Amino acid sequence: MTLATGLDRATDLDLNRFGPIGLVVVQSTSLCNLDCDYCYLPDRQQRRIFDLQLLPVLLQRILESPFCGPQISLVWHAGEPLTLPCSYYDEATSIIQSYLQQHTNGEVVIDQHVQTNATLINDAWCECFKRNRIVVGVSIDGPAAIHDAHRRFRNGNPSHALSLRGLEALRRHNIPSHVIAVVTAEAMDQPEAMYRFFRDTGITSLGFNVEEQEGVHTSSSMQGQLQEERYRRFLSRFWELSEADEHPLALREFHQVIDLIQRNRRLNQNELNRPYSILSVDWQGNFSTFDPELLSVSSERYGNFNLGNIRNTSLVEAASSARFQQLWADVMGGIALCQSSCDYFGLCGGGMGSNKFWEHGTLNCSETSACRFRTQLPVQVLLKRFEAGPPLSA
Ligand code: SF4
Repeated sequence: MTLATGLDRATDLDLNRFGPIGLVVVQSTSLCNLDCDYCYLPDRQQRRIFDLQLLPVLLQRILESPFCGPQISLVWHAGEPLTLPCSYYDEATSIIQSYLQQHTNGEVVIDQHVQTNATLINDAWCECFKRNRIVVGVSIDGPAAIHDAHRRFRNGNPSHALSLRGLEALRRHNIPSHVIAVVTAEAMDQPEAMYRFFRDTGITSLGFNVEEQEGVHTSSSMQGQLQEERYRRFLSRFWELSEADEHPLALREFHQVIDLIQRNRRLNQNELNRPYSILSVDWQGNFSTFDPELLSVSSERYGNFNLGNIRNTSLVEAASSARFQQLWADVMGGIALCQSSCDYFGLCGGGMGSNKFWEHGTLNCSETSACRFRTQLPVQVLLKRFEAGPPLSA
């Protein structure tokens, strides 16, 4: 009898079903200067830093693998990336550029992004974003009363005024940004105030993340059928206001679905449940794939979601591990359940692993409260709107 090696097992897997890597999320620091009460990150008060000497190792792991895509977005996230100095990102840019120059013939392009609460953005940061061509995503939840209900500093002080000051600095420097707003119960009855805020601050690209039960945040103000009905009304009204206005606001929830419908495309998977479509790396160099929110989470069923460390494990070797194979079997089981039971499958592709895990303790399952908010309700609102004629905007 011969024992299968890790690499034998990897070749047994259909690696064509994996990748290409389009998104790499790197935790430049675990520290966040805010302490939002719905945050899922357990170590956000600790200042741990991703050593930039590991960046060439990460790039090597990506480029040597069969999963490397031609266009990669590297997002500094999972903490507040701007608690590090501008020089950190200057150095990162220089490392990325020189590595790509030495090891590729221009076939691979890497864009850098940050996802930030904007409280630290000033002129110096704007100059840093421009010289390093960093794309900026801002997290802000709407007007002050709604935002400050949850997004506060550790000493309890509100953060809205500082986030707004950061957005104004971006605008002064003509740096476009897209916004992610966490929708909590406070926002539900105020679609007009929410819409006015994003229009008046000049936001043209917006995504709603409905407050979820995830990580150390074990309950959400957005649970239950009553909240689902409120969210349906909120979304309908928000879009009605947007359509009635001339401000061009692309709402992610609708934009994605309209795009699929207009191109007559349907999904049978999505980037959050396709292996090595996303690569997530924590400050120590531990990596995982699927949903970035699973990085560094421990669980009874799966142990740790980390698949290895970039210092000593290649992406292909990690795909051969027993842990990956258990995860992948459950993810595939979950996709199959979604496909056989859900009318929204073609517009969703089988949901987000982290929500399946947080709500049901397994990835081998289908519907979640999060997918009703993220997919089902927006599609229902959209289809109802389609009944009145083609939508004017998304
Ligand atoms: S909407 Fe929910 S149940 Fe339907 S395919 Fe997506 S994750 Fe699965």
